Amino acid sequence: MKYIIALDQGTTSSRAVLFSENGEVVDIAQKEFSQIFPRPGWVEHDPEEIWNTQHGVLTEVMNRNHISPRDIVSIGITNQRETTVIWDRYTGQPVMNAIVWQDKRTVPICEEMKEEGLEKYVRENTGLVIDSYFSATKVAWILRNVAGAREKAEKGDLVMGTIDTWLIWKMTGGKVHATDYSNASRTMLYNIRTMEWDHHLLCRLDIPENMLPSVYPSSWHFGEFNMDGTSVPIGGVLGDQQAALFGQACFNPGDVKNTYGTGCFMLMNTGEELRESSSGLLTTIAWGIGRKVYYAFEGSVFIAGAAIQWLRDGLRILDATEDSEYFAGKVANNDVYVVPAFSGLGAPYWDMYARGAIFGLTRDTGKAHLIKATLQSMAYQSKDLLETMQKDSGLEIHTLKVDGGAAMNNYLMQFQADILGTLVERPAVTESTALGAAYMAGIQSGLWKQDDIPGKRKIDRIFKPVISSEERSRLYNGWKKAVSRTQGWLNEE
Ligand code: ADP
Repeated sequence: MKYIIALDQGTTSSRAVLFSENGEVVDIAQKEFSQIFPRPGWVEHDPEEIWNTQHGVLTEVMNRNHISPRDIVSIGITNQRETTVIWDRYTGQPVMNAIVWQDKRTVPICEEMKEEGLEKYVRENTGLVIDSYFSATKVAWILRNVAGAREKAEKGDLVMGTIDTWLIWKMTGGKVHATDYSNASRTMLYNIRTMEWDHHLLCRLDIPENMLPSVYPSSWHFGEFNMDGTSVPIGGVLGDQQAALFGQACFNPGDVKNTYGTGCFMLMNTGEELRESSSGLLTTIAWGIGRKVYYAFEGSVFIAGAAIQWLRDGLRILDATEDSEYFAGKVANNDVYVVPAFSGLGAPYWDMYARGAIFGLTRDTGKAHLIKATLQSMAYQSKDLLETMQKDSGLEIHTLKVDGGAAMNNYLMQFQADILGTLVERPAVTESTALGAAYMAGIQSGLWKQDDIPGKRKIDRIFKPVISSEERSRLYNGWKKAVSRTQGWLNEE
């Protein structure tokens, strides 16, 4: 038996997922690591702890299944995106902890960039909006604030990387300093038109180019990990959301996946041609494979599963998030809308002054109505995103592929199909992120062919729309009206 292992380096835990040669999950090992909060708004990870936990779970999953390095055809890496590490190219020592994507310390650097009028340039050349999320300002911050870092960087002694790059460096014993297109496209330093590091932005942020990794396709021989004398190739690398898009076999333009977690992450494959959104969606590189590069639109819902947690922990009207399905089934009709704009609204509204509200309350409204309406809000917000993607890409959407914790909720998925008027497909293996990295590695090693993957995937369930188009319009118009009443809330007299 041959295996592929995916290393899934997430924001709160490191996981190793063992796949059989048939693409089935054999076993998963997982270990959480420390979240470091040095000040309000700052979030760091210890790069050595990331590596130790990642290496630890890899060993654990192999030992538990009595697998030797020779049984592993290839390793795929998928990772939390944007999080940035800078280390010494000679000693391998990080100059400080990794600055995590959630970290807000570089907001002032973003403001500087906006004041310099760089927004249009950044959007057109990196596909992104200027935000502290992305790696660029994190690198600039480290060079400005860590004692001696600027001098060492000017001398060429320092290198930077996103987490994939750090793991590749560690696995190859410092021989390889590389990343893939999908991760590079999240740095806000990579020009997704010319497919090279962007000189203009490097210059503006005073970042020496020799700090940056080489950029390769996502399915590529990145190097070898020496395990007890056996060299195991690293054959696939891609950022977590793009990995999920690939793992869901969204290989063609117009294919979309939505991950229902704390927030929702929706990505649409827009093909080989770079498209720009007029509604504030991000344009990102989905992956590079062979000689081709595929682009994607990306949008997110800030509050999705988090609203269900609010029902459970804030309002205490649910014992467990899964019980929401039961309560949604208890009330038939529904004219209640919950708009969970707890911290404003993202695409397509982009309103940081919006705040949450509940509409349509009557004397008979009970907790089941609130729970049902909150589940529906995830589907409505996802529809808002999907409509935007459809409009900005001009591509027709037939099926939405879903994953993430809340995609297990059958009521929510049926309502999603109803409100979209498209099929909603839930795969049997919901480990889409790990699967995407495994597919890339498997394709690189020749174990799998990309064309065979869609036929091999097992579907758990397809949800078909059952409501009439009149009913769909009535419901969605109600949602739009509810959203409009929350907009600009903090600004009003
Ligand atoms: P993340 O990766 O963002 O932590 P997960 O994919 O683990 O998220 O999903 C957890 C989120 O999904 C939580 O916010 C939880 O409230 C929500 N959730 C999980 N199961 C259900 C369910 N059956 N119905 C509705 N929401 C759910």
